[in-house]
Amino acid sequence: MKHSAHCQSRRSLRGARSLVLLAVGCGLAAGCADWLALPSRTPPITQPLIRSVGQGDELGMPAPAPTLPGRFATRRGNYVFYHDVPWPSSDTLLNDVETLPDELREALELPLGQTCLIQVFLFESQERYERYIKARYPHLPTRRAYFLQEPRPGGRDDLKVLTWMGEHLYTDLRHELTHAWLHSVLKEVPLWLDEGLASCFEWPASQRGIHPQHLEHLRRQGVHSDLSRLERLERVEEMEKPEYREAWAWTHFLLYGPPPARQVLREYMQHLRNTSRPGPLWPRLQQHFADPQAALQLHVESLEWPVRWGSRPVTSATPPAP
Ligand SMILES: [Zn+2]
Repeated sequence: MKHSAHCQSRRSLRGARSLVLLAVGCGLAAGCADWLALPSRTPPITQPLIRSVGQGDELGMPAPAPTLPGRFATRRGNYVFYHDVPWPSSDTLLNDVETLPDELREALELPLGQTCLIQVFLFESQERYERYIKARYPHLPTRRAYFLQEPRPGGRDDLKVLTWMGEHLYTDLRHELTHAWLHSVLKEVPLWLDEGLASCFEWPASQRGIHPQHLEHLRRQGVHSDLSRLERLERVEEMEKPEYREAWAWTHFLLYGPPPARQVLREYMQHLRNTSRPGPLWPRLQQHFADPQAALQLHVESLEWPVRWGSRPVTSATPPAP
């Protein structure tokens, strides 16, 4: 698991259908001021469910094991949100997570399934959420949110997000749901790219993938990155805050950089649909850029922040490799 201050986490037994966990934790700004006010496309359907909810015992009996939220189920697009307290259906957040698959589909050219269903368990408090995680997954560090991919014999994997209704809910949800969408269609998602994409798409689309804290740090300290080294990292314990920053920077370059970089990413995503052993992306970049790291540096320097409404995405021009 990842234990850094930035704390995205995952445990994956690669090459096998296994439980995958990814999480987001402290240190991420909410970015709430930039929420998109998009019109609702699918009216939410909220229905009470018959499901017991763990409560303390007033008679001195041992408290029952903590359970998942489930008094209400709010269906919205490809998501079912389970919660124990009413959740305002007009919440801008609901509108914005509903557009997330469209954003991913357009940027990555992935056939994200219309029938895909992602379950989101929204705990009403941090305390209840952490008590549940501790009881159910005692080996996991405390994090604000988790994505779980659980294999189901003979069927599709269950895609679940667990989090609580805190001030970071917007970015945490988009981060974890990005993981969920990627894992719903790809045979393998390299760790650095998984976290890089989640870091880009946790922000509203109007922000064009810019992670303000990462960008500020990279501009202050300079971009010192080695993608081939980043690609060799397989265990989340190996990824600390600098690696998350690098993953974000390379992914942003691939999403919003020069056309050859964007083409490399799109081709690599198609590759990931068909193989669980994709090999590194670095040699593909070297085919198009004489010095990919210099191109990344140029890209980071040329990013416009804050993004002006209506401005065009930056396309840094770097001479292609001979
Ligand atoms: Zn993550």
